[in-house]
Amino acid sequence: TEKVRLQKAMSDAGVASRRKSEQMIADGEVVVNGKVVREMGVKVDSHDKIEVNGVPIRSEKKRYILMYKPRGVISAVKDDKDRKVITDLLKEDVPERVYPIGRLDYDTSGIILLTNDGDFANKLMHPKYHVDKVYVAKVQGFLSTEEIKKVEAGIKFKDYTSAPAKLRVMSKDTKKNTSIVRLTIHEGHNHQVKNMFQAVGHPVSKLAREQYGFLNLEGLVSGRYRNLTRQEVALLK
Ligand code: URA
Repeated sequence: TEKVRLQKAMSDAGVASRRKSEQMIADGEVVVNGKVVREMGVKVDSHDKIEVNGVPIRSEKKRYILMYKPRGVISAVKDDKDRKVITDLLKEDVPERVYPIGRLDYDTSGIILLTNDGDFANKLMHPKYHVDKVYVAKVQGFLSTEEIKKVEAGIKFKDYTSAPAKLRVMSKDTKKNTSIVRLTIHEGHNHQVKNMFQAVGHPVSKLAREQYGFLNLEGLVSGRYRNLTRQEVALLK
């Protein structure tokens, strides 16, 4: 399981701030698996038994949240420009320190998961697990059969070639010269969907993620969230 620095494990468990925790470690107040640890840099995971002044620390409850991200929100826990971040949307029913699994752009809406389970997050972000993500985009112009094939076969970018994808044109607006398309990919490179359509000459003007694996946004409105069920978590693990 995920290894973190001892002082982080302590602060995550609500023992004290990281700095104060470091002081407590230096002072010999912290015991890991029966041994006093005074040096810095020791890493622990959920299997380690940590006691502070003889009291075991409780590990934080694991949370798995599905959110309908609105546009105009950063999918991070803090922003250096002080824009609204996704965790600002969480209410008091989520006191745990969760963070988003992957990213949606500031101007992209749709489904995103949040968790405080590092192993779970790492697993879902690893491309080898092939979680399909379904995006609906409004793009400029109309895609030719050739262009559709190109997007589906994989587009060569500077640092990667996109994996085979599925693309369907849902509708065309001849007056506005735009199309609504649905793209299924399992990767998550930065701005990948926008870059894929840009590459064939059809820039994206609006983007939403409708599906993440077998999960969708049914029953949720923009800005709201729900816990994943035990069964959903088990299926993703
Ligand atoms: N691809 C993008 O270009 N943007 C997103 O937010 C998600 C996928």
